[in-house]
Amino acid sequence: MSGNGKPKFAMYWAASCGGCEIAVLNIHEKILDVDANFEVVFWPVAMDAKYKDVEAMEDGSILLTLFNGAIRNDENEHIAKLLRKKSKLLVAFGSCANEGCMPALANLSNIQEIVDTAFSTPSTDNPQNIRPNTKFSVPEGELHIPTLYPVVRTLDQVVPVDYYMPGCPPESHQIAAVIDLVIQVLQGKAELPPAGSVIGVGNSTVCDECTRKRNEKKIKKFERIQHIMIDPELCILEQGVLCSGPATRSGCSALCPKAGSPCIGCYGPAEGAEDYGSRLMTAVASVVDSNDPAEIEKIFEGIPDPAGQFYRFNLAGSLLRFSKPAWKG
Ligand code: SF4
Ligand code: SF4
Ligand code: SF4
Repeated sequence: MSGNGKPKFAMYWAASCGGCEIAVLNIHEKILDVDANFEVVFWPVAMDAKYKDVEAMEDGSILLTLFNGAIRNDENEHIAKLLRKKSKLLVAFGSCANEGCMPALANLSNIQEIVDTAFSTPSTDNPQNIRPNTKFSVPEGELHIPTLYPVVRTLDQVVPVDYYMPGCPPESHQIAAVIDLVIQVLQGKAELPPAGSVIGVGNSTVCDECTRKRNEKKIKKFERIQHIMIDPELCILEQGVLCSGPATRSGCSALCPKAGSPCIGCYGPAEGAEDYGSRLMTAVASVVDSNDPAEIEKIFEGIPDPAGQFYRFNLAGSLLRFSKPAWKG
């Protein structure tokens, strides 16, 4: 509890795009419930608080921390460890913290390639081909910028996590429901779910929430959505456009198929799936309409960027990390 008697709340972004922060603000008037029930002690995007303020707090004194973003550099790791120490409940919030999300697709390249790409794009004005130095001396002293790690890691690959809330970003109605639950727990009207639970989600797949009509799926050719007219009623995968619904956890009310786009998997692996990409590949392979290896290969050539298609959100959290020593962090 704080001086004003309210439990403390913190939110932090590590390697992230900021969308998870916007999703929290997007809960509209529910944000007033956060203010009414918590003292917000650390939330860099919304208030001016310094790391040293957090360092000065007693261990375990923050009731709830929503941590979004993956672990890309030593600053991300330092704050993850600091907030773990200071927080009773640490929630991996959003796909980046849960599974690495798109920042982790960079695990397919080494650091030098990533830095070279970032600092030599056609739109980058860098005639002297300068690269960032992690230490730099100026008259006032030595400046430091965070050091990139060889790979992006998920939050729970760095510190123990109490709850997981997936989504890119988590849907605002799910965030509001989780905040309501915590408030009810504080008022003694509800109990927290078991530690380690995935919260703010369903326990089936996006397909189970999807209202599109389904027949037996037989795919002879994969198409890109921009190349065909999608039937508004029929299952998108049946129409030959890769939809990740069969492998993805429910919770978003099948938002993308409802809007005419395939699910791309942002809610992460469905309950019980050890490896998201393998589950999706199995689902997709089962609807390919051929037994001829050459034809099957040709059909799969219609999927551009297979690593991105099957592991767009889950590369850092996937079992693939065990096959590459550097990915173990
Ligand atoms: S999970 Fe998605 S919305 Fe949230 S920080 Fe990562 S990329 Fe952005
Ligand atoms: S594959 Fe996609 S479009 Fe088809 S039922 Fe599942 S979520 Fe809906
Ligand atoms: S349909 Fe898929 S990609 Fe779209 S919000 Fe839901 S889980 Fe995410």
